[in-house]
Amino acid sequence: MAQVELLAEVTKFIERPPKMTIGGTAVEAKSSRTFDVIDPSTGDKLTEVPRGAAEDIDAAVAAARESFDDRRWSGLRPGKRTDILYKIGELIKRNTPELAQLEAIDSGKPVNLASGEIWAAGEAFRYFSGWPTKTFGETNPSDDNMFIYSLREPLGVCGGIIPWNFPLIMAAWKIAPALAFGNSVVLKPAEQTPLTALRLAELCLEAGVPEGAVNVVTGLGEEAGAALAAHDDVDKITFTGSTGVGRKILEASAGNLKRTTLELGGKSPNIVFADANLRRASKGSMMGVFLNSGQVCTAGTRILVEKSIHDEFVESLVGATRSMKLGPALDDDSGMGPVVSAEQLERVTSYIDIGRSEGARVVTGGERATDLGDGYFVQPTIFAGVRNDMRIAQEEIFGPVAAVIEVADVDEAIAVANDTMYGLASAVWTSDVSKAHKVARGIKAGTVWVNTAGLYDPSVSFGGYKQSGFGRELGKHSMEGYTQTKSVWVNLR
Ligand code: NAP
Ligand code: MG
Repeated sequence: MAQVELLAEVTKFIERPPKMTIGGTAVEAKSSRTFDVIDPSTGDKLTEVPRGAAEDIDAAVAAARESFDDRRWSGLRPGKRTDILYKIGELIKRNTPELAQLEAIDSGKPVNLASGEIWAAGEAFRYFSGWPTKTFGETNPSDDNMFIYSLREPLGVCGGIIPWNFPLIMAAWKIAPALAFGNSVVLKPAEQTPLTALRLAELCLEAGVPEGAVNVVTGLGEEAGAALAAHDDVDKITFTGSTGVGRKILEASAGNLKRTTLELGGKSPNIVFADANLRRASKGSMMGVFLNSGQVCTAGTRILVEKSIHDEFVESLVGATRSMKLGPALDDDSGMGPVVSAEQLERVTSYIDIGRSEGARVVTGGERATDLGDGYFVQPTIFAGVRNDMRIAQEEIFGPVAAVIEVADVDEAIAVANDTMYGLASAVWTSDVSKAHKVARGIKAGTVWVNTAGLYDPSVSFGGYKQSGFGRELGKHSMEGYTQTKSVWVNLR
């Protein structure tokens, strides 16, 4: 075991302890209350952060509104906004070791995995830094007596509410596009993982984002989150999280009819056909479901396998799974860390019990890993003999639990793949080009991976079909989510 030493910056940051950023100032909650931040690898308390509530959300929204209305951000020369956004990306990159360690101790993800995510968060800012100079309105057709054009304008104050599974990436995916299209932001990170978002707010200021354009309020979902979602002076909520909370966000948005983008849960099919490269398919399917301890909205948790290769594939999948090392986040060799919290540990292990009682067969894992101390470790678990109507095939577990389901052919694979309320992502493994495209067209999901899984890029739009949400993040489609158009009619007569 190669234990990584904590950097001095990391120790200093958690010992400060970190504060929220509102209107460019580091502040505590108005109530002075805090809540504990826990290291999932040990179960120990790391630090405490402000427990922001409705009054802090009010202050953050007021600061964001002021910064938007006086145009200190949206009124800047587009090239200047590009420079600042790019600089945030550079600062994230430069501070990767610190941010990766913060992410690792806060969320439990292995530090190597966290480093890649920090890079990806920086990449989102670098990608969106290109948009301020490339966001155009349009000139409309008209007769000679009229000049009609449309302006593409920001929405105003955007609230972001995010989950704990990819804390800095999620923060970047909300803040970078909102700023790129000229909005001001109030971000509420998940209570389990507030640290890197608090640090990001500081880096935004350091890069030159004007005061008030980016505000981060830590707190609980039912307090700070609900207040942001319901706030009358917020123009848009961009939410990533569970389908249940997504529904509440939508209800709360009705008060002032704010716009919403919802990125919700998934139960994504990962289809392996007999003509696939089995070695690649088993390794890819394994990563597709167990990356980040399975706490990934797009995780390929339903592994649909063509009958003729079922036993051989399951054996290969089990082999790939057993080669991955379970261990603490700060161990360099860990391939998989703990789940994020005691609550999540309880949820995941109870789903493993449900799978057993439904008659599915555990072929590897199936228990909490107790040899690693008090951390929230669960063995990567694969169930075979799963029917698609079982709860472990229909409900999002959000932990390292895979369900292998046998299918007869392409048609049955598509039918089973679509037999779910979700539609976030999917993967198909085959060497037959026609089959790959046929399945890609047949699946009702926002993303289809062919002979790969779990890839993202800031230029590729992302979002759900069905109850996995609506609206698209990233890529050129994100413009629709963060701008509105204004038609201007000019009489030339
Ligand atoms: P969650 O329980 O829905 O929480 C998400 C966020 O919403 C957290 O910041 C939470 O705050 C906040 N929240 C909770 N109740 C709220 C309320 N009544 N009003 C406003 N905000 C509220 O989800 P999670 O357990 O953190 O994350 C796992 C879920 O996220 C999974 O379902 C997963 O599939 C989904 N996810 C989706 C995507 C995607 O892009 N589609 C990506 C990643 C994750 P607290 O944490 O402080 O309670
Ligand atoms: Mg934590």
